[in-house]
Amino acid sequence: MLEILNLNCDIKSQTAEELQAQFQTWEQPTYRVPQLLSWLYDHRVTTWAEMTNLPKVLRALLEGQFSLQTLELVTKQGSSDTTQKFLWRLSDGSLVESVLIPANPALYGEPSDRHTLCVSTQVGCAYGCRFCASGLDGWKRNLGTHEIVEQILAVERWHATQPGAITQEHFINNLVIMGMGEPLANYENLLKALKLLNAPWGGGIGARKITISTSGLAPQIRKLADEPLQFRLALSLHGATDEVRGKIMPVNRKYPLAELTNALDYYQSKRGRMITFEYILIAGVNDGLDQVKPLTDLARRLNAKVNLIPYNKVDGLAWERSTELTQEAFLEAVTGRGIVATLRREKGHDIDAACGQLRLRTEKASTKT
Ligand code: SAH
Ligand code: SF4
Repeated sequence: MLEILNLNCDIKSQTAEELQAQFQTWEQPTYRVPQLLSWLYDHRVTTWAEMTNLPKVLRALLEGQFSLQTLELVTKQGSSDTTQKFLWRLSDGSLVESVLIPANPALYGEPSDRHTLCVSTQVGCAYGCRFCASGLDGWKRNLGTHEIVEQILAVERWHATQPGAITQEHFINNLVIMGMGEPLANYENLLKALKLLNAPWGGGIGARKITISTSGLAPQIRKLADEPLQFRLALSLHGATDEVRGKIMPVNRKYPLAELTNALDYYQSKRGRMITFEYILIAGVNDGLDQVKPLTDLARRLNAKVNLIPYNKVDGLAWERSTELTQEAFLEAVTGRGIVATLRREKGHDIDAACGQLRLRTEKASTKT
C-alpha cells in the first residue's frame, strides 16, 4: 500500500535544499524555490495553477514529479472559545484528527497568545494503551511527511475563512504531537515534517514551541536526544511503577521504567531541558495516594513537571475518571512534594477531546449505515 500511496512524493515533503537540487537537474533557476515555498507555506495554495509567478513549464515539471495533496475536512466540532476538533480524510480514505486548543496559560505554563494544534502522526496506533481510543482498531499506516505538515496548513486555511482571522502571519504557533499514533514509531517522516514546520521558509514554528509526546520508546528517545533541533519532550507516563504502568500501557513490557529512565537520563544529559510527564487519572487504577511518592521521585530525578489529566471515558473501555475530589487531592500531594504540577480541568470533554475518539465514532457510524 505504501508504494501505491507514494508517501513522500508530495511537494510538502521536500526541504528547500532538496528542491534546489531538483531545480538544478531541471536547469531551472533556484530563485524560483523561495517563490514556490511561499505559495505553499505563506499562501497555502491547493493547486499548481494558483502559483501564477512560476512559468508554466516549471509548473508542468513540478506537477509531473510531485503531488500537491490537501486534507478533506469531514467534520469539525467545537466553537471558537473551546477546543476545536478537525476530522480529516486522507487520499486513501483513512481518517485522522487534529485538535486546535484555545490559549490556556495553565497547560504548559506559557503566555496565552498561543494557538496550539495537536497533530496526528499515524492512522491508528499499534501500542494499545488501555485508556486510548486511537489504538482500539490497531495500526493502519504511518502518515507521510506531507500529511503531518498539511494538518497545520489545512487548519490555517480554515482559519483564514473565519471572521477576524489573523492572516498576516502563521496562525498556528505551537504544536503538540499528541494526536493519533505514536510519533516516535514514525520517526523519519515526523522529524522531516518538523524540520519543514520549523524552517523560516516553511511553517516558521520555533523548535521550542513543538512538543513531542511519546508512550516511551526508549531507543527513539535516545535518537531524539542527538537531533540538532531542540524539541520539547512529553512522556505519557500514567503509572510510576512497573506494576501500575504495566496494567495501563503494554509498551511498558518492552521498555520497563528502568530502561525508560536510562533513556530519559541520556536525553536530559544532552538537552538539560525540563520534560513533562502526562499522567491520566483513572479511578482505582493509578489515582491512589500511594502512587504519589514513586511519581514525584521519578519527576525529581528526571527534572520533569507533571500534567495531571482527568481520564476521558472512551466507548467500549471500562475505566472511569477519578472524582474531582481525588483529582484535587492527588494534585495537592504531588505539589506538596515540591514538584511542579498542573491539573487539566478539561474544556474539550464534551466534544470527545481525547485523541482518536472522534474518528472512532465516525467510523462506527459509517459502518452502521
Ligand atoms: N502516542 C503518543 C501521543 C498520542 S497519545 C503518546 O502516547 O504519548 C497522547 C496523550 O493523549 C496521552 O498521554 C493522554 O494524555 C491523552 N489521552 C489519550 N486518551 C485519553 C483519554 N481517554 N483521556 C484523557 N487523555 C487521553
Ligand atoms: Fe498509541 Fe499514544 Fe494512544 Fe498509547 S496513548 S495507544 S501510544 S496513541
